Amino acid sequence: MGREVAKKEPPLPGAEEGNARVLARLLDRAFAAAWSSRGRVCYVAAFMLPKSVAIYRYADATMPTVHGPLRAIVYRHKDDARQAGPGASPSIVPAQDEHLAIVTGELSGAEDVLCRVHSECWTGETLGSLKCDCRQQLDAALAAITAAGRGVVIYLRQEGRGIGLGNKLRAYALQNVGVDTVEANEALGFAPDLRSYDLAAAMLADLGVRSVALLTNNPDKLRELAAAGIQVTKRVPHWVSENQHNQDYLAVKREKLGHAR
Ligand SMILES: [Zn+2]
Repeated sequence: MGREVAKKEPPLPGAEEGNARVLARLLDRAFAAAWSSRGRVCYVAAFMLPKSVAIYRYADATMPTVHGPLRAIVYRHKDDARQAGPGASPSIVPAQDEHLAIVTGELSGAEDVLCRVHSECWTGETLGSLKCDCRQQLDAALAAITAAGRGVVIYLRQEGRGIGLGNKLRAYALQNVGVDTVEANEALGFAPDLRSYDLAAAMLADLGVRSVALLTNNPDKLRELAAAGIQVTKRVPHWVSENQHNQDYLAVKREKLGHAR
């Protein structure tokens, strides 16, 4: 019954080319979950599918950078009540509700686009904290896309793997007395990683990117991005140098969060 319902539905967003396989797998899982948890399936066509995130371009400008000229596109959620389309009066939203695509070259319709999906790290990128490698990773990604002549860094405002700046600094306080990065998040009552990549998928779709070569050391990220509807053709290792302060943090990322060496 459930499968018949799904067949009658119009094509799902992103259900094309390689994404169709991902969607089919997710649908299978959704049906299995619905059967096992409820004993029957009524209407589950959209259950557990990647969330479609409605976004729009709020600003788009090119600026000179140490890496060369880069185009920065700011996206906002469409449910921002103050949004009234292009040319509308400027409005202010909280910083965490604005996300960036930092672009070089022509991306529309492109395959294998060099891409990093990067989460904001105020402590590392602004303050120069040596507790992590985020600033070096961001710099290396921007350098890589400009060297390639085409690419994109999706910059998501999800500080501290999604727990926010204040909670991240609370976690640092715990780390200062000896617990590791994963244990600290758990001690505060958070999962080790609360990041979501639905926004990244929506931004890449808006840019017309058909598939990406992903700059990352995190194999989980490939799976998460695929589940969010992004076609990843390959992983491009993205190691930057360690220092005496972030060695332990990077070791925990490898041992507890499955990052590749
Ligand atoms: Zn960081």
